[in-house]
Amino acid sequence: MEYDVYSVRKDFPMLNQQIYGRPLVYLDNGATAQKPLSVIECINNFHTSKNSTIHRGIHFFSEQATEEFENARKTVQQFIHAEKSSEVIFTSGTTGSINGLAWSFGERFISPGDEIIISEMEHHSNIVPWQMLCERKGAVLKIIPFNDDGTLEINKLDTLITVKTRLISVMHISNTLGTINPIRAIIARAHANDIPVVIDGAQSVQHTGIDVQKLDCDFFVFSGHKIYGPTGIGILYAKEKWLHELPPFQGGGEMVNVVSFQKTTYNEPPVKFEAGTPNYIGAIGLAEALKYLTKTGLSGIAKHENALLEYGSQKLSELDFITLYGQAPDKSSILSFNLKDVHHYDAGMIIDKMGIAVRTGTHCAQPVMQHYGISGTIRASLGMYNTQEEIDTLISAVKKVRDMFA
Ligand code: PMP
Repeated sequence: MEYDVYSVRKDFPMLNQQIYGRPLVYLDNGATAQKPLSVIECINNFHTSKNSTIHRGIHFFSEQATEEFENARKTVQQFIHAEKSSEVIFTSGTTGSINGLAWSFGERFISPGDEIIISEMEHHSNIVPWQMLCERKGAVLKIIPFNDDGTLEINKLDTLITVKTRLISVMHISNTLGTINPIRAIIARAHANDIPVVIDGAQSVQHTGIDVQKLDCDFFVFSGHKIYGPTGIGILYAKEKWLHELPPFQGGGEMVNVVSFQKTTYNEPPVKFEAGTPNYIGAIGLAEALKYLTKTGLSGIAKHENALLEYGSQKLSELDFITLYGQAPDKSSILSFNLKDVHHYDAGMIIDKMGIAVRTGTHCAQPVMQHYGISGTIRASLGMYNTQEEIDTLISAVKKVRDMFA
């Protein structure tokens, strides 16, 4: 079936609005995506007639909620093709997943002098937790650089890896440059040296889908709110063997087996890693979003978004007053740019007044800005419901900004 973006748009009530008297053009999907009605209704229904906390009660609603929560885990498992649903841990989001993992992995496996490799294009959420770990343990953070076109200098990896390398953590798709990183090659090289790999999939699952078994990554993390699901929920996928080796990163609630003042023993994964009352409604809402994506068809979505990206890149590169950042041959859904002699913030304010939501600034990737010696960019990040006409609206807004500053 042909992908019909206009019928998809009808599923997203947020899009059907005017701001400043103009139809909303929402191009900030890299920050957060809008939710289809099925997700909104699912959450609303749960609050209205099903709410009860999971795991703790034997009453009707608690059992029903527990079943829906565990079914949500299975939906995530199927979506990312994990071998077992117990390899799927619910967290608060990508940042929560990486922080938890960095603490836990650090406690078990990192000693003074050990090395962790990340890349120069990472989001702060995949930099700072590792930096904090390195400071705590006296370990060393090493960086894979990137080329000006936004591609990783992957040939440097072999010299960065040493006998002291304990972990590599890289983003699948850059939230600033749109680069699709060669994570299969990175994982293969890491595994040849017995090094586990974390993949930050915050910007990839919603565009490309994922098969964690084929990819063979050790850990994969993403956020619900960027994949058309609710905020405050995310996933830490880990291969089963790690979940037995790693200590829990939070204590309390149902993550225990026996608690006494002398000693506490832990529950089996995934519960071992889900201390406190989990965001069960978030998890159920996330599963609903994944069902929506699956029903709509991931390949149709990807094809549509790729066509939009190509169109937008072409239109922007025709403008001689625009600098585009991130021109990797393998790229996804992000258009990062600046207008010559116009501050990104000023441009963003004017673009906003034309009804277009774009992001301006560093996009939580200050090292990327440092690479180019700039203070920020304007970023249009595309989603499944964006249209070619919306790109045209953006292009005319950008031209108007240029005219105003001429
Ligand atoms: N990694 C990447 C690549 C991101 O784009 C983001 C969000 N912009 C994050 C991590 C952090 O995600 P969250 O704020 O949902 O934890």
